[in-house]
Amino acid sequence: MFDYIRAKSIDEAVALLNDPHCVSRPLAGGTDVLVQVRHGPPSFQRLVDISRVPEMKIIEQRGDEIYIGAAVTYTEIIESRLLQETATCLVEASRLVGGPAIANAGTLGGNVANAAACADGTPPLVCLDAVAHIRSLNGWRAAPVAELITGPHQTALHRGELITHFTFPILPSSARSVFLKLGRRNAQAIARLNVAAAGGLGADGRINFARVVPGSTLSHLRRFVEVETLLIGEAPSTELCETAGAEAGRVMVEATGRRWSTEYKEIALHGLVACALRRVFHLEN
Ligand SMILES: Cc1cc2nc3c(=O)[nH]c(=O)nc-3n(C[C@H](O)[C@H](O)[C@H](O)COP(=O)(O)OP(=O)(O)OC[C@H]3O[C@@H](n4cnc5c(N)ncnc54)[C@H](O)[C@@H]3O)c2cc1C
Repeated sequence: MFDYIRAKSIDEAVALLNDPHCVSRPLAGGTDVLVQVRHGPPSFQRLVDISRVPEMKIIEQRGDEIYIGAAVTYTEIIESRLLQETATCLVEASRLVGGPAIANAGTLGGNVANAAACADGTPPLVCLDAVAHIRSLNGWRAAPVAELITGPHQTALHRGELITHFTFPILPSSARSVFLKLGRRNAQAIARLNVAAAGGLGADGRINFARVVPGSTLSHLRRFVEVETLLIGEAPSTELCETAGAEAGRVMVEATGRRWSTEYKEIALHGLVACALRRVFHLEN
């Protein structure tokens, strides 16, 4: 058993999370934390509901950056005109999360804090170079999402800290971002593999901007700079996308070694990255 309390502001949530008399955890959509408590005794005495804190529900442009509150749900991301225009990979990922009930409740902050290797929200955030803004009793700190997530279900979040929002710079006007997911089923599928990718061309028609972030591949989510380097300066073609896909597979195998799933994953990642890049560079039929 555990207690429940709803916070009305970030200040109140942080005070409740740091109450020395009660071990508390944030509750956003509950689609991870409430599933976990069904499998064993909770490691907390109280859930602090942050799902309706107004400051954590904002989606807006601030100067050259996009600001997304950590309690924004997938449905809110999907419906945001601003994000449709500036963060296509995040919108596409949100469309593929669970079913409507999960999309209506699950949040981006919960996805990052839970840090599942198969998460769909995190590769787009890393692809967009997003920074998480974190509040505690000591004040504010900021951490790139790629550094905040340190491994499967592991983050550099300290007890009592609350992710309040994410920011990321708007992509260059020539750039486009996409998200693809390979699951066992189309709906309600936890990703077996996914990839967020972005790219753009210079005036000479050659690639001058590239980001490739496969999910569910390495123990530490990161941009595949090896693939990005291979793309920069080249003219986009289906052959180049194939070469980039093969390089993504090579990078994964080099990092993880060969295991029972490698035979499938290497081929699947190759195809997924190649397909994502063909979409980025408008090479799809
Ligand atoms: C049927 C089903 C299908 C699913 N399908 C997918 C899928 O396709 N893709 C996918 O990626 N995930 C999927 N999930 C997992 C889940 O829905 C997502 O990870 C979701 O984003 C979690 O967000 P939440 O708001 O529900 O988090 P919660 O369950 O509320 O919280 C998760 C964890 O994060 C912490 N937390 C929450 N918010 C914050 C914050 N702002 N700051 C600090 N800590 C915080 C909580 O204390 C808890 O430890 C699925 C889950 C279910 C049950």
